[in-house]
Amino acid sequence: MHRDAFSHVTTWVFDLDHTLYPPEARLFALIETRMTTWVMQTLGVDRPEADHLRRHYWAHYGTTLAGLMREHDVDPASYLAEVHDISMDSLTPDPLLAARIAALPGRRIIYTNGSAPYAERVIDARGLSGLFDAIYGVEHANFLPKPERAAFDTVFAADGLHGPSAAMFEDDPRNLLEPHAMGLRTVHVGPVRGEGAHIHFHTDNLSDFLSHLGA
Ligand SMILES: [Mg+2]
Repeated sequence: MHRDAFSHVTTWVFDLDHTLYPPEARLFALIETRMTTWVMQTLGVDRPEADHLRRHYWAHYGTTLAGLMREHDVDPASYLAEVHDISMDSLTPDPLLAARIAALPGRRIIYTNGSAPYAERVIDARGLSGLFDAIYGVEHANFLPKPERAAFDTVFAADGLHGPSAAMFEDDPRNLLEPHAMGLRTVHVGPVRGEGAHIHFHTDNLSDFLSHLGA
């Protein structure tokens, strides 16, 4: 039982995309389509080149936006509003997950590489509104994304989060490297096991995992 490994935790940090809703919702595919269109229009490139650039940015900078800002000095606010303007129709409420999150003792926050307004829409569609004490988006880290240490430093400082008193749930194993180094308990969420010494636990069912941790 992993309950003891979390008995010291007073702050629970959740990623958003593919952590608080399953990849099967295909929400990110809608965002990616809008990202590609935005890159095509803004940089004046065709679709294959835009897709290539997006893969390059994701691999080298963590997100498409981070690459665009480094290499092309784009306006992040208009980009974030544009790419996140998608339908939430594929999301369904998850009362079980809501109950399990509500049972966690202490402070509960979301930290996403998307924007906070987008996160609000997602958790509303998932029936998770009102369960979180704060929601942080990439705009709260000066548009620097996870997995960069400076991004975590900025958001965690803003929240008053103390690493050794916190746990983080996240589907991208890269985004657990720095949290692990900062003393957080790390839980990889996803269908494929995330490998690495920086991952304390893995689950492919967040509700199940949380059921062992709540009050
Ligand atoms: Mg994610």
